[in-house]
Amino acid sequence: MNAPFISLRDLSVFPSLQQIWDVLPEARVVGGAVRDLLSNRPVSDFDLGTPEPPQTVMERLEAAGIRVIPTGLAHGTLTALVNGRGFEITTLRRDEETDGRHAQVAWTQSWREDAARRDFTINAMSCDSSGNVHDYFGGYADLNAGRVRFVGDAETRIREDALRIFRFFRFQARFGSVAPDTETLRAISRCVDMIARLSVERIWSELRRILVGPRVVEMFRLMQNTGVLTACLPELSGHEDGALRRLEAVIAIEAPARLDIRMAALLAGAGISLPVIEACLKRLRTSRQEAVAIIALLRDGPVPDPLTVATPKDGARLLAGTERDILLGRIWLAEAQQKDDGAGDYDPEKWRRLRQMLSDLPVPVFPLAGRDLLAAGLPPGPRIGEILTVVRSWWEEGGCTADKEKCLIHAKDIS
Ligand code: ATP
Ligand code: MG
Repeated sequence: MNAPFISLRDLSVFPSLQQIWDVLPEARVVGGAVRDLLSNRPVSDFDLGTPEPPQTVMERLEAAGIRVIPTGLAHGTLTALVNGRGFEITTLRRDEETDGRHAQVAWTQSWREDAARRDFTINAMSCDSSGNVHDYFGGYADLNAGRVRFVGDAETRIREDALRIFRFFRFQARFGSVAPDTETLRAISRCVDMIARLSVERIWSELRRILVGPRVVEMFRLMQNTGVLTACLPELSGHEDGALRRLEAVIAIEAPARLDIRMAALLAGAGISLPVIEACLKRLRTSRQEAVAIIALLRDGPVPDPLTVATPKDGARLLAGTERDILLGRIWLAEAQQKDDGAGDYDPEKWRRLRQMLSDLPVPVFPLAGRDLLAAGLPPGPRIGEILTVVRSWWEEGGCTADKEKCLIHAKDIS
């Protein structure tokens, strides 16, 4: 296979990269960006490696007027801000000692040593300022063959850092077009006990990306078969099949790849109770926002039956009471459940129409506020709030069509 080359000059970031190369001519683009450029995928971040020690990197950049943020100077990483974009620049490293979670690193001048500590061959390539790709471990061939392969012996690399188990599934989903190597899967099975020693934050940050990524059911099945699923989500124990079936259903009906929907599908399919779900999300240290979104989909709320939501008035009523994304999320989950249950009257078209209607309708805004009641002469006090609540229910039941004047008349009637 020809030595790979990347036409960097054609990239819109090239002038920014060139500014860095003007000061650090030996630096190279490393890791994910090289992989993504070689496989014609959009690049999210351009990370660079360089043989100079961090202090020198910092001094040279600053001397050239480039702003530097000391992102992780102890690990040799800083961020250079060029034309409003951040570039992570890391001094080449070699692992000295690893304990399954953290590595003691030392600076090195060797590109090969730096590549050797990376996880997969496809992530271990680097590209110099001329566009020449340096590929020490056959990453290019693996990328073209759709093989996600550890640099070196899989089990050894997993024992150095068990997070690589999750990274394996995440990259297999995106880049693996051939079935994963059986020896790699066996190595993963042998190392599942190490997952307990990882911080939950690191696990969740990988897990959430697998969940919203491609081929999630396939990856979760592999995780189930290797014992990884039980190790990271023990709450699903004994109910994994139900959980995965529901996830499969929610994907089959083409629900959007939302983390909240997919996680809720797993948890709902496992049939676990809300308190256990809440404890599970807490244990995983999901963000508060993530937990709130997932719980909102699972907590009892209006899961409309498409048969009962026939008119725009019905739709408006629902939208007045529940945020649109939550409502739509619940509908996806309810449809997945019906499909999963094999219900005889399951009709995807009805669900589709319901979602369409709820997506098209404007969110109704309750037209009455406390000050309107005061302006109409009602006495201030707690009664104002009570009246508003009653009028709002009446307004919702009526399909949210009553305007301010009608609401005011109703308010006066009941006051
Ligand atoms: P993405 O586009 O998903 O961010 P990426 O390749 O940039 O993909 P990152 O997690 O951002 O992935 O990591 C950047 C690079 O650092 C990887 O390409 C890999 O070379 C290396 N790397 C990251 N985490 C590990 C790890 N746990 N073990 C070994 N190498 C790692
Ligand atoms: Mg990255």
